[in-house]
Amino acid sequence: MSRTRDQAAAVLPTLLTALRLPSINRNWKRLTDTADRDGWPAAHLLASLLEIEMAERTSRRIQRHRDQSGLPAGKTFGTFDFDAAPGIRKPHLLSLATGEGWIDSGDNLLIFGQSGTGKTHAIAAIGHALVDAGRRVLFCTTTDMVQKLQAARRDLSLSSMLDKLDKYNLIVLDDLSYVRKDQIETSALFELIAHRYERHSIAITANQPFSAWPNVFPDPAMTVAAIDRLVHHSTIFEMNGESYRKRSAVARISAMESTSDNYPPDASHDRPS
Ligand code: ADP
Ligand code: MG
Repeated sequence: MSRTRDQAAAVLPTLLTALRLPSINRNWKRLTDTADRDGWPAAHLLASLLEIEMAERTSRRIQRHRDQSGLPAGKTFGTFDFDAAPGIRKPHLLSLATGEGWIDSGDNLLIFGQSGTGKTHAIAAIGHALVDAGRRVLFCTTTDMVQKLQAARRDLSLSSMLDKLDKYNLIVLDDLSYVRKDQIETSALFELIAHRYERHSIAITANQPFSAWPNVFPDPAMTVAAIDRLVHHSTIFEMNGESYRKRSAVARISAMESTSDNYPPDASHDRPS
């Protein structure tokens, strides 16, 4: 069917909306003008429009995955001071952030260290980078996850919940050692670990090393079985050092003290000579 340019322009918005091609819808006028003016071959125009749709679709998908990830906003490598992180080397952290290898084979990442040393920030930064690289990440406190798993077990939907969680390449369980044994029984957490074993990755942060984990699982046999599965294919970081939180608080206080030493400020500098 032959159409004038105006006739084609009249139907395009409706077609592009019906076909859910919003990026082409926003850009076709500009690009068809350029194509007409510069004499682009039709295939060049078509490829350019589809590339725009593809690129914007990818960035919308990444944004949606980030919104659904629960990752703390702003805890990225951009705000992470590698030199202040005890026990981890920058190249190692950055290589994990690509996801290549360990995420593909469902390996785990375990980060231990005292409070305030940057465990949550480090794993969140890795999580953000993985989302940027097109992976799915779910970040939650271990306590929250245990509660959700328990609720699913009560509804007899634990196994379908575990299957649904398979869509995440990585589940971050922050603060494992905060889970209390009396938080009903935590065997549901063991089921998550067993379900993902050698298939999909789990990252765990914990203040306490394995020796304190018997407080987390209902019995010693389950504790050993959980640790076995987590450790079998894993990277372990020990971020033991001075708390970043404490260090920056101390730096703030000493900055305030040095400011108040100079108070009232010496106005003589500002005086015109
Ligand atoms: P943890 O999880 O080990 O208790 P966090 O990751 O919550 O520690 O860190 C405590 C605070 O210090 C957070 O605000 C975090 O962003 C900041 N922080 C910790 N380590 C670093 C670092 N190496 N660079 C920048 N900020 C850091
Ligand atoms: Mg933390």
